[in-house]
Amino acid sequence: MKEFYKCPSAQLLSEYDSGFQGLTRQQAEQALKRFGENRLQEEKKKGPLQVFIEQFKDLLVIILIVAGIISMFTGNLESTIVIFAVIILNAILGTVQHFKAEKSLESLRSLSSPNAKVLRDGERQEIPSALVVPGDVVVLEAGDLVPADGRIIECHSLQVQESALTGEAESVDKTEEIIEGDHIALGDQKNMVFSSSLVTYGRALVLVTSTGMDTEIGRIATLMNTTQERRTPLQVSLDNFSKKLSILILAVCALVFGISLFRQMPVLDSLMFAVALAVAAIPEALSSIVTISLAIGTSKMAKEHAIMKKLQAVEGLGCVSVICSDKTGTLTQNRMTVTDSYVFDPSQSDRLQLASILCNDGSVSGDSTLGDPTETALIDAYRLAHTDYFDMLKQYPRQAELPFDSDRKLMSTVHQIGQDCLLLTKGAPDVLLQRVDHITDQGIVRPITDEDREVIRKANQSFSEQGLRVLAFAQKILNSCEVSQESENGYTFLGLVAMVDPPRAESAQAVADCYRAGIKPIMITGDHVATASAIAKKIGILKDGDLAVTGSELDQMDDETLSHKLPHISVYARVSPEHKIRIVGLWQKLGNVVAMTGDGVNDAPALKKADIGIAMGITGTEVSKDAASMILTDDNFATIIKAVANGRNIYSNIKNAIGFLLSGNTAGILAVLFCSLMGLPVPFAAVHLLFINLLTDSLPAIAVSMEPPAKELLHEPPRDSKESILTSQFLSQIVTQGILLTIATLVAFYLGLTVNAATASTMAFATLCLGRLWHGFNARGKGSLVKLGFFKNPYSIGAFCLGAGLLALVLLCPPLERLFSIAPLNGFQLLAILVCSIVPTLLIQLFRIIRGK
Ligand code: ATP
Repeated sequence: MKEFYKCPSAQLLSEYDSGFQGLTRQQAEQALKRFGENRLQEEKKKGPLQVFIEQFKDLLVIILIVAGIISMFTGNLESTIVIFAVIILNAILGTVQHFKAEKSLESLRSLSSPNAKVLRDGERQEIPSALVVPGDVVVLEAGDLVPADGRIIECHSLQVQESALTGEAESVDKTEEIIEGDHIALGDQKNMVFSSSLVTYGRALVLVTSTGMDTEIGRIATLMNTTQERRTPLQVSLDNFSKKLSILILAVCALVFGISLFRQMPVLDSLMFAVALAVAAIPEALSSIVTISLAIGTSKMAKEHAIMKKLQAVEGLGCVSVICSDKTGTLTQNRMTVTDSYVFDPSQSDRLQLASILCNDGSVSGDSTLGDPTETALIDAYRLAHTDYFDMLKQYPRQAELPFDSDRKLMSTVHQIGQDCLLLTKGAPDVLLQRVDHITDQGIVRPITDEDREVIRKANQSFSEQGLRVLAFAQKILNSCEVSQESENGYTFLGLVAMVDPPRAESAQAVADCYRAGIKPIMITGDHVATASAIAKKIGILKDGDLAVTGSELDQMDDETLSHKLPHISVYARVSPEHKIRIVGLWQKLGNVVAMTGDGVNDAPALKKADIGIAMGITGTEVSKDAASMILTDDNFATIIKAVANGRNIYSNIKNAIGFLLSGNTAGILAVLFCSLMGLPVPFAAVHLLFINLLTDSLPAIAVSMEPPAKELLHEPPRDSKESILTSQFLSQIVTQGILLTIATLVAFYLGLTVNAATASTMAFATLCLGRLWHGFNARGKGSLVKLGFFKNPYSIGAFCLGAGLLALVLLCPPLERLFSIAPLNGFQLLAILVCSIVPTLLIQLFRIIRGK
């Protein structure tokens, strides 16, 4: 490995044919062809064959295979063929679904993949980190993820956290100076940055020296495991359920086999019963329904500006009971406009205005002002009144700087003005005023008095109470143009500037939705408590009797006191990221599921700690996006509520689909059990049940997972996250519906039995199949169809028609008769099937209508 830290940066730049302007686009393209994309190699993905074979590892499928073999020995060759055809078809579908789900995950992942800022053709551009090439000049700023290894060529107080490589959690200071020596450890290569480190402070230009697997992290990384998404809690609990179910099925099969033998039924017939039962009981479509629902749900959410980075979070979303949101940009528009200013002494007015553009990281390009809205507002205000913006920048160039960070809440720059090195600082008034010891009064600088402070504090308070964001400005003459954080005190006060940032139009409605849905919205902001309270009142977060507390008040409360007050606090102001972690932790201790937004460099730990960490797609730092489980592509609070509604909907759809599948299976089991106990012939052939379970039952189940969110979804309190999906109430509902379907099936069976066993079995099969298709309409929701709206979910109508068409084909098409063990039916029998099958659904609907009233 070349020791880049030893080389002068000019030499390195020329070796890479690059410069302070970066590469040209053409050079970058060529380099990309030569070095490939800047990605770590991913774990080898499973091939189709491997996935296909894995489908047979399922215990339920093994039971089916055994059933197929048994029916071969019972001389039922058609059944065997159909069973095996079905098993293979099922495995193919499983394989296709696996790759589809993977693809949709991948596209979600690519939506949330990190970006990097590079100079190309001398222009600053944001590109996907994967397209960074050796020779690129990358701009690093606080909050960025370092996209590749590189040598620092220009450094402004850069601090980087390299724990991914060195295990060291503390940030280290970086430099652009050459480092002498051989074999210097990575942690000591202070003029180098390494891929996947986090920039916690400052700014730098970096020449990329290696990318992809050539980077240090690429060398040590055991292959990136991106393919295996952990199973969601729901999937895990369904897996467990399936296991228990399989054991139960085997036990009941043995029981039925025993009963049949006891009744001195021939062994082969007894086996047929057991096989039918096994096939009836296995919910083949169960696990794929969950996968399909999650895939459909997350892609819908992405279209509605919420990208789910972690699939597990989708279920958690539905349980969210507290949403902690940033103010600026999430609840407000992040469109700042300067509306007012204050100076203690009118002679300082010009200096205040000058400071507002010099101590400023925004810039002007053509007609637009670029940068953070707080900064651009100051530039725009200056340019409205003056024409000499560019002249001033040229006249007083920046000599040094201390960038803004939300812990310090200050930003400073140094400029040569005449003989003097002038330090200009802007920041939160309460913070900056503490560092001020002089003031200009009638053109003369004198020590500041407590009365002066009170006057300024009042001015600040009056701006803040109008919901304005206030910045204070101060200046100080330095001995040299070098600056460190120790220099940030002993200032002379300049003035205050106030700006508005109106709430987003949707915020108030979204907050009202939160309350209705049993979710507590909380504002957490770095801004002043009066500003925050004014905005929070406007959008309804801060209600009468609610509290607004500041970070320093939080520091004075112990956990117990804070826990007591927690439910009443709606606004936290002037907080630091550490406070956020504490607030999340305490809410969680009270048994809540907490969603928290974050955009800053230091928000990552709080985002990870929250149940649902939410990052801002537009203004958020790469670090925060990396830590989050969801990304808002429009930075909008209202999107969170929409996502919660979607999360709730996905869960309830999955639950409804599961209820549908299990109640249908229950009906199959009970019918077989009944016939076995009563010494009647087998009501279904294995093929019948497979046809229902795999084909006609999957259609309504998929339709149910497409059910659009009902209006009432946000009128109920959040679900208890610890509650299992299969509650006793849910199970008893499944059994009741199953019994209704069983009765209908048996009535048809008895009608058929007056002719012969084959007709009876055909009628039982057709009634159960059609009955379950009708039942698909019940499964769409808790309410009656009148309430749900019959046409609201066109898929459910389509599913019914397609399923009924397939059934008609099997019943009425002579070539299929033998394959599906179908006896020919007359008109009366067909009518009986129709009537029997629809009765359970009519009863369920009637019950719901009465209950609704
Ligand atoms: P939120 O956490 O809701 O996004 P915020 O954007 O107000 O709130 P910070 O960005 O941490 O929070 O800002 C905290 C305070 O720092 C602001 O109230 C303001 O007084 C000051 N401040 C913000 N931006 C700047 C800046 N660019 N330069 C100097 N001071 C700033």
